[in-house]
Amino acid sequence: MSRKTVILPKGPRAGKRIRAGSPWIFANELRMDAAAKAIAPGSIVNVRGFDGQGFGTGYFNPHSLIAVRLLADDCDVTIDAEFMAARLGRALALRDALYDKPYYRLVHAEGDGLPGLVIDRFDDTLTVQTGTAGMERLQPVILAALEKLLSPRTVILRNDAPSRALEGLEADVRVLKGEGRRIQLEENGVRYFADLAEGQKTGWYYDQRDNRAFIAALAKGKSVLDAYSYAGGFGIAAAKACAREVICLDSSAPALALAEESARANAVKIQAVRADVFEELERLGGRGETFDIVLADPPPFVKSKKDLEAGARAYRRLARLAASVTAKNGLLMVASCSHNIGMDRFAAECAAGLQRTGRRAALIRQAGASPDHPVHPMLPESAYLKALVYALD
Ligand code: SAH
Repeated sequence: MSRKTVILPKGPRAGKRIRAGSPWIFANELRMDAAAKAIAPGSIVNVRGFDGQGFGTGYFNPHSLIAVRLLADDCDVTIDAEFMAARLGRALALRDALYDKPYYRLVHAEGDGLPGLVIDRFDDTLTVQTGTAGMERLQPVILAALEKLLSPRTVILRNDAPSRALEGLEADVRVLKGEGRRIQLEENGVRYFADLAEGQKTGWYYDQRDNRAFIAALAKGKSVLDAYSYAGGFGIAAAKACAREVICLDSSAPALALAEESARANAVKIQAVRADVFEELERLGGRGETFDIVLADPPPFVKSKKDLEAGARAYRRLARLAASVTAKNGLLMVASCSHNIGMDRFAAECAAGLQRTGRRAALIRQAGASPDHPVHPMLPESAYLKALVYALD
């Protein structure tokens, strides 16, 4: 079957974005004629200008707003196991340089030149997540390349990201190879437990690794409230760094059970509290209870662009309530994993929330995700994680 071509129409704006280096082409930037619409979702295509100029090889979905995601800068590049092995090998070499233990995000989509693909590595266990029709079609090729590169013992498919619906894909969560979805991992010298089939997202949030290390380094002798703790990423790290007291607060019982298991594995004590964070902060604040370090790392409050104002208000309120339980001279971290709110707006909302408490705040750290979550320079929205740490008077 010969390869199909999609065409950028004539006009000064056509191809402007990909000429500038973006890996995405939106549907309204293409000549969406009957021939283009008839191309099966997920097909590999060449992208050309109306005059035949080549813009690269990508995959195409006529039903998606992001119609093309580029895989290579040249046309007619063969996207096979060899291509995948080269991209995966590059991603692996970067992680090998960054980390001395095999626990990290191995592939972070566009940031690793593999749009729509996320792979997390837990030693010999891999979770693979495809988010687009194009990557879904390439799944067999990806799995073959992974087999050659790492021969993993266990491979778990975590194809349940809600964004798959935009590509016309169904949820599909399966153990493809091996068993043992419940695993141990190591990060910053701390042991954690995760459940890769049941847990949230791909089972573990490696993106907060550096922020956890930053907080842990300040935790000795302190009382710590880890709000939205999930499996205890921040809390256990703080406890291991000799915090005086750690409370992990989350609404999920399975997540808290993992946190308790991790505490035992590290021979540290935590208190797991199952509650709604906003309600618990109101309650603690009402009783005048405070903590030396307060961490608030909520699920995304801005799930889509239309939620921006409501989500922004929620971040402001969270910052205010979290500050109200932060002790004098304490530290407060507020994080956002919503890619639909930028750092500037998020920081402005946190500042407004802090302002309401009448406390003087000094911003001592503005960070994103760890470097195993590389950002494509032309896709600033792929820098979704924002973590702000304040020292409060
Ligand atoms: N800080 C964690 C990641 C947090 S993910 C880490 O370092 O790994 C967000 C968490 O918020 C999830 O565990 C989810 O169960 C929890 N959550 C969502 N809504 C909540 C609510 N209203 N109250 C308490 N926890 C909530």
